[in-house]
Amino acid sequence: MDKRTVLRERFGFRSFREGQEALIDAILSGRDAFGVMPTGGGKSLCYQIPALLLEGLTLVVSPLISLMKDQVAALKEAGIPAAFLNSSLTAAQQREVLRRAELGAYRLIYVAPERLLTDSFLEFAAGQTISLLAVDEAHCVSQWGQDFRPNYRDIPAFVRRLSRRPVIAAFTATATAEVGEDVVRLLELRDPLRLVTGFDRPNLYFDVRRERDKTAWLKTYLEGHRDKSGIVYCATRKTVEQVCEKLRSAGFAATRYHAGLDDAERRENQEDFAYDRASVMVATNAFGMGIDKSNVSFVIHYNMPKNIESYYQEAGRAGRDGAPADCVLLFSPGDVITAEFLIQNGNEREQLDEALRVRLLIRDMKRLRQMQDYCKTDGCYRAALLDYFGEAHAPNCGCCGNCLQREEESAEEGEEEDITLAAQKILSCVRRVERKNGVGLGETMIVLILAGSRDKTLLAREYDLLPTYGIMRDTKRTLLHDYLRALVKQGYLRRPPGDYDVLITTEQAESVLFRQERVLWRHAVQKEQSTRQQKAGASGKPEAADQALFDRLRSLRSELARQAGVPAYVIFHDATLLNMANAKPASEAELLAVSGVGEQKAKKYGQAVLAVTAEWRQAQQAKKSSKAKKKEPQPPLRLTPEQLSRYVFQPEGVSMTAFARALTALKDENEPGALTGRQLSDRLLAEGLLTEETAETGRLRRRPTPAGEAAGILMTERVKEDGEVYSMVTLTEEAQRQLIARLSEGLVIE
Ligand code: ADP
Ligand code: MG
Repeated sequence: MDKRTVLRERFGFRSFREGQEALIDAILSGRDAFGVMPTGGGKSLCYQIPALLLEGLTLVVSPLISLMKDQVAALKEAGIPAAFLNSSLTAAQQREVLRRAELGAYRLIYVAPERLLTDSFLEFAAGQTISLLAVDEAHCVSQWGQDFRPNYRDIPAFVRRLSRRPVIAAFTATATAEVGEDVVRLLELRDPLRLVTGFDRPNLYFDVRRERDKTAWLKTYLEGHRDKSGIVYCATRKTVEQVCEKLRSAGFAATRYHAGLDDAERRENQEDFAYDRASVMVATNAFGMGIDKSNVSFVIHYNMPKNIESYYQEAGRAGRDGAPADCVLLFSPGDVITAEFLIQNGNEREQLDEALRVRLLIRDMKRLRQMQDYCKTDGCYRAALLDYFGEAHAPNCGCCGNCLQREEESAEEGEEEDITLAAQKILSCVRRVERKNGVGLGETMIVLILAGSRDKTLLAREYDLLPTYGIMRDTKRTLLHDYLRALVKQGYLRRPPGDYDVLITTEQAESVLFRQERVLWRHAVQKEQSTRQQKAGASGKPEAADQALFDRLRSLRSELARQAGVPAYVIFHDATLLNMANAKPASEAELLAVSGVGEQKAKKYGQAVLAVTAEWRQAQQAKKSSKAKKKEPQPPLRLTPEQLSRYVFQPEGVSMTAFARALTALKDENEPGALTGRQLSDRLLAEGLLTEETAETGRLRRRPTPAGEAAGILMTERVKEDGEVYSMVTLTEEAQRQLIARLSEGLVIE
């Protein structure tokens, strides 16, 4: 076997990533190696592949239990015998691992640094041929780094106790020169191959935002990423508690992690996150190295970290699987004060001598300034990060927050629209509300007033008596929202401190209302999302047609993970599922060709995966052959009064289909249940509110009875785009209201 065969057959990958091959070659030729690669760069493979090709045993020094556990689980899944030795095992279990190891049961053993110099381990090691000693997270040896672990310095002493010196290979994501020097010197590497790969992570989107209300922003963001998982980093334990609590009470599956929690809770929360039981982890920087979770699709920094190394390492935990991921830092000036406090009062270095402490303090303050500079730059964020690590790069990445913003501004030049009239109407509306209430009003309600809605709350508060009521009823509501946001952005409206849900007019608004100031608009608000997604997310999503298959593969994976008792990403990475959903393998050979599927996994899960793709293919065929849409029967829709209260009444009336669809959209996405227009129509027919008659065309059609008309169900005429006139049963706002009320009282339409 050679390294390529191992890569393909065991790990299911077709090609090496940058740096991997050279490091593997060095190790195989007996040379020490020091690899610096970004998080997610693929360091593990650099020692796992040699472990399978070298004669004897490979020891991996790893700092954290969770890391070892994940890696060993992943290796076992790939059919590679491995074990770990750490304090999570009982004494009896540890003896059992050592006993089996002596029988040659494992290719790799992961071990905590504290264990190296213990008698039992030394005795074990003496009887083994250890061909490779891999040091993962090697920066732990350096006190310059964030995660200094004194026992990493025992490694050379351990090596000297062996009868034969193994090859030593060290790996880290920390790129600073100081740390690199320490690793080589303190681990006593001999003429190592030093390899630093590029630090760019093209699939990560970087942005810094100054949000007055970070929580509100966060909730909106999470709302848009419901099916994704991610991390929210906070500077202090207290902030973790607060943010986690707020997210939970807003209905998000959030969990927390910080050094103030006891071990058991930390472990449990970490697992909830790893196993996708909790989709958002709110944590301090204590939550870190120990996570190899590959499908983290966002890392939000609720506060600015202390330095760019930490930031890049933490943000880098997003998108390990290569799928597009977001890294957003929410900056506020208060963060600087917190960071300074943490630097000056950090007790991590209490045991160090005074002179060194002072040096570190000076260094840390300098790094903090560089971190601030990053937050304030209006240049390319990616460029700023790569500059910091001394790496060459294009002047602009074209896809970070700043680059996109700039692009929008220049691309939109000349396309400016004069929205003065709309602005006058809106500002005068907000102003009248202020006069009436003495306070401002939420964005949604302002839109309802402008649109002339018959919303219950609106009527109860008598906003329909305002002269501005309904003055923009011909403007689309989404556009009204855009206008409002544009007016906030341009400073005509603002959110008062302490109550960000409300909009009020500013002094500047007077110029528009009374001094004919013109208001121009560049649609930037609207475009922001779409451009960004196109740019940053080009490869991330399966084609629309494959989404269903992807979702099924995902639920198969959850099932398999539950059975095996491992996190889902240990079975297949998201990226692998995406590849499958695109390749739609029909045979084992085709499955093996999918990147991320090795022989062991094909053997173990191939049948289940192929069953899903086959079923999907059949379903596609069935769809094609029978034009009649035979959808899976859905149970009747059941909505809670709370869900029903989110229905937005349509004053212009809606068709039964549209109404049924809008109601179905109110339920939780993963809950079953649907209401169709047909079901609704049948029900109204049964109740005598509709009646059936034969039209001139000979087809049956339904129209409201007098009782139906009394209930607000009307026949209206519509004009199709091609000019054809047709009539349709319309539910007026009154009818919508009655139906919603009955549904709230427990009516179920089957
Ligand atoms: P690091 O330790 O450098 O942070 P990992 O070793 O955990 O990174 O690897 C990150 C991800 O990249 C893992 O999901 C791994 O399976 C994947 N990976 C590693 N090497 C390759 C490769 N050559 N091709 C495709 N995926 C790879
Ligand atoms: Mg790693």
